[in-house]
Amino acid sequence: MHVLLASPRGFCAGVRMAVEALDYSLGVVGSPIYVFHEIVHNRHIVERFQGRGAIFTNSIEEVPEGATLLFSAHGVSPQVRTAAFNRRLRTIDATCPLVTKVHLEAVRFATRGYDIVFIGHAGHDEVEGIRGEAPGRIRIVETVEDVEKLERISDKMVYLTQTTLSLDDAARIIKSLKERFPDIQGPAKDDICYATQNRQNAVRELALRVERVIVIGSQNSSNSIRLTEAAKEQGISAELIDGLDELNLEALKGLKSVLVTAGASAPEDLVMAVINVLKEKFGARVEEIVLEDERVHFSPPKELRGLERPTHAHST
Ligand code: SF4
Repeated sequence: MHVLLASPRGFCAGVRMAVEALDYSLGVVGSPIYVFHEIVHNRHIVERFQGRGAIFTNSIEEVPEGATLLFSAHGVSPQVRTAAFNRRLRTIDATCPLVTKVHLEAVRFATRGYDIVFIGHAGHDEVEGIRGEAPGRIRIVETVEDVEKLERISDKMVYLTQTTLSLDDAARIIKSLKERFPDIQGPAKDDICYATQNRQNAVRELALRVERVIVIGSQNSSNSIRLTEAAKEQGISAELIDGLDELNLEALKGLKSVLVTAGASAPEDLVMAVINVLKEKFGARVEEIVLEDERVHFSPPKELRGLERPTHAHST
């Protein structure tokens, strides 16, 4: 078996910053640390942190007054920030700066009276956080069919997008928005983040060279799901697995070529575990293909800067 290993894959700068922020907070502040929503959408990361005293919650009311609460990489609405303030929580904001950028765009357009059409998946943590920036002014569309049902409610319209969309889906929806509302404006630069684009581009480029694609990531990870879709759109079978325990060895029997990649919230040790089993069971020869040299880095949350970590603290 010839295994192509896509690069870039796995952790993006936003996920790395959020994971390090929680790791550091547990070291500096100690447990428990409450986290609003999953720190990143990956079951393994969440379980590892739970083992160290992180408590994940979807409700501010569940957090004891005065406790420390960390906001996840996906960001939160102003209503959540206010609720945390009223509860006298000590907050640490690990929102990815690229998500914050979309929040700021939503605020800017809403205050200028725009009707905002947001292309994204309703119910996703990121989307709900951004929707809260301008309640009543943001409408969510997920498909071209949603665009066809949309009515104009203002003479000024703009679209914004979730950071982890499929590039192809977003392009189709934007095209139909422009056909239906020719004067609709868009963000100065695409909101789909560099990590989403790079990982999807790698799959698009490499999937046609293999018989099957394995994407490592959790089922609630938007960008991981998009990677399997990118492969399937090219007619290549693809599976999304959370880790080694979900690897379907039967389906891999007899295959000569496989592409392995990972969503932006999947840690590298899970990828290596899969690679090692492919070597062991199928004698896989692994070739890493580097298509982009990612050097993006985000600073830790401002609340953690300058805090000293005790020498006895350990990390995940
Ligand atoms: S996928 Fe993109 S927007 Fe989301 S955390 Fe990573 S860098 Fe930030």
